[in-house]
Amino acid sequence: MQARLANLRHIVFDMDGTIYLGSTIFDDTLPFLELLRRLNIGYSFVTNNCSHSRAEYVAKLRRMGIEAPADSVVTSSHAAIHYLKTHLPQVRRLFVLGSPGGNEDLALGGFTVVEDTPDAVVVAFDRDLDYDRLCRTAYLLKQGLPYIATHPDKVCPTNEPTVLPDCAAICALLETATGRKPEAIPGKPNPEMLQAVLDRHSLRPDETAMIGDRLYTDVRMARDAGVLAILTLTGEASAAEAEQLPPQLQPNLIVNNLTRLAQHIAASHK
Ligand SMILES: [Mg+2]
Repeated sequence: MQARLANLRHIVFDMDGTIYLGSTIFDDTLPFLELLRRLNIGYSFVTNNCSHSRAEYVAKLRRMGIEAPADSVVTSSHAAIHYLKTHLPQVRRLFVLGSPGGNEDLALGGFTVVEDTPDAVVVAFDRDLDYDRLCRTAYLLKQGLPYIATHPDKVCPTNEPTVLPDCAAICALLETATGRKPEAIPGKPNPEMLQAVLDRHSLRPDETAMIGDRLYTDVRMARDAGVLAILTLTGEASAAEAEQLPPQLQPNLIVNNLTRLAQHIAASHK
């Protein structure tokens, strides 16, 4: 572990539950990022929540005092863009069941978001879900168009007294109606999402770490990509839950918070 931390060149952060909770940044996030800058360790932020655009996340991080270059923020919209360009290069026109922020990123990624004659259907996190568009989506799926879901989350975490059905819940409804499941789900825990970050920064898996608060997305993706998987206990998962997983899916390191990880990293750089 000491050796792997000593060789770190880049840390990929989950956001909610890892560097902030809702709109409240953790006290140790800014000092941790300062340590990384001092040690010349780069960082990126990945999230499955594509109801906001990259620009909106950059603005949110800036309000919290975090300077994040635009390309350091990767949402499941970017994972979908990467998947489409890699696996379905003929696709240009997308019918999207999603929110405006995600659509903005798909358009910036070179796709045309259309209502008619799409090449493929993308189901994302549509917070303005509309019955007529749901019907239209089901009809397009029945026509046999390629079908991508951005991410597999069933619900979006919230501390409000409500439940936020997320992408997988919308896909389940469409499956009931059409019998179709998405052909690809490029968001976490799909290791291609993390591999795209490694490719962008010319990183090897053994010089990269991923830290997050969820076992079945953050830790799973890191393990499957061969990246150092760090679980922080500031969000969803507990250490007891981590220990119940098969060894190949367990985090390589569990920390109570970023302060503890900072101590590990500082010690490895002595
Ligand atoms: Mg999280």
